[in-house]
Amino acid sequence: MQINTPFFKQRAHDALADENLQKALAKLKTGFPEKRAIAVDRMPEFEQLRDEGRDLKNHILEHLDLYLEQFESKVIENGGHVHWARTTDDANQIILDICKQVDAKTVTKGKSMVTEEIGLNDFLEQNGVQPIETDLGEYILQLRHDHPSHIIAPAIHLNLEDVSEAFHANHNRPKSSDPAVLMQEAREVLREKFVAADVGITGANFCVAETGSTIIVTNEGNGDLTQTLPKTHIVVTSIEKVVPTLEDMTLFLRLLARSATGQEFSVYNTLSTGPRREGDQDGPENFHVVLVDNGRSEMIGTEFQDMLRCIRCSACMNHCPVYGAVGGHSYGWVYPGPMGSVLTPQMIGIEKGGMLPNASTFCGKCESVCPVKIPLPKLMRHWREDEFEKHLQPKAARYGLASWAFLAKRPALYKPYTRMASWLMKTWAGKNGRLKKLPLASGWTDWRDMPAPQGKTFMQTWKEQQKAKAGEQR
Ligand code: SF4
Repeated sequence: MQINTPFFKQRAHDALADENLQKALAKLKTGFPEKRAIAVDRMPEFEQLRDEGRDLKNHILEHLDLYLEQFESKVIENGGHVHWARTTDDANQIILDICKQVDAKTVTKGKSMVTEEIGLNDFLEQNGVQPIETDLGEYILQLRHDHPSHIIAPAIHLNLEDVSEAFHANHNRPKSSDPAVLMQEAREVLREKFVAADVGITGANFCVAETGSTIIVTNEGNGDLTQTLPKTHIVVTSIEKVVPTLEDMTLFLRLLARSATGQEFSVYNTLSTGPRREGDQDGPENFHVVLVDNGRSEMIGTEFQDMLRCIRCSACMNHCPVYGAVGGHSYGWVYPGPMGSVLTPQMIGIEKGGMLPNASTFCGKCESVCPVKIPLPKLMRHWREDEFEKHLQPKAARYGLASWAFLAKRPALYKPYTRMASWLMKTWAGKNGRLKKLPLASGWTDWRDMPAPQGKTFMQTWKEQQKAKAGEQR
């Protein structure tokens, strides 16, 4: 997938002016967040579960090598194969080689953000293998040559009319705007693809070390058909998805469904444990797991390790005011919203991804809803520091920050300077107390007036209030 993160600002401007997109995004404001709130209210122990989820993930990350090796040996014991992919190129080549071994012409795919991350569809097509997305949202996007804008609702940026047009242009059937008819149409078309596919590729929400199983969580059941009908099943997932036991997995499933869609449990929770065994009625003859690293192991032991706790629930983006205003495509790569603003610079480099950690109001909502308590604002701040240290920010921002730091370290200078600045701003604002223009702050004043200070600094106001309180108590 092409990297467009350096153009975040322009893409965000375009998104704000796109009426269709704004209509589609409006659904998000009342959809997932409200459902999550209801589900959380119904579960008094939800906060305790979040703590347990955070602690368990931290434990796993401390012993990641151990659990991954246990998972690998169990998969092999069950008759499957494990492949280690350090880079995206490694992962794509491994998957293509497996497809070639079984002479695959078409592969069906369940929804998988890791395959988006490695650009698998384009790679397979370039090498003569036709991928067919089977998650309804992903299928619609594939017909439109489009990309996901959300990690669990990939086509959230589209309206019913967009879907109707995409089906009409590709299915050679009468045009319809009835969701039930469109759904039936997709079912009929995809059933044939499921049956004809040589290979099924799915992601995995979790990999269970004690049994060598992988699990996928869906609400459509397409993942089940993808992994049971073809002769070969390839699971493409990333190394941090491993959990020690089935019981640990259920803790995360409870957190995941409530945080993502407000469900108590997702509709389909499907485990795969190796290839078909003697006496099994169905299932693949070959079972492969491709474990993708792609920079994740470099996060271990750094300030970004916490990000590897992510269970891809999407709660952070569902509650993010920036995501809600500009949508996922503005972020310019695979992972949008607050989690993407931390992960993307790690994967494509801060030089290209630096815009994203700056696209935050730091309201803290993302951290407050994250089921595994990832300190997303703190991690974005780390990226901003990294950007500053590498001299990647615009000169005006760098000099502004450096001047502020110079003053802040010298209170004898800082106090009179801020007093003077505060008085000047109040005088400049005039009677209505609002500034229409301010040097170095056009990003704010181009769009709204800035309220002027009342002629006093924060410290002066605070001291006055303390004095007044002390007076009241006497
Ligand atoms: S960062 Fe937290 S809230 Fe966001 S997708 Fe990951 S687990 Fe969910």
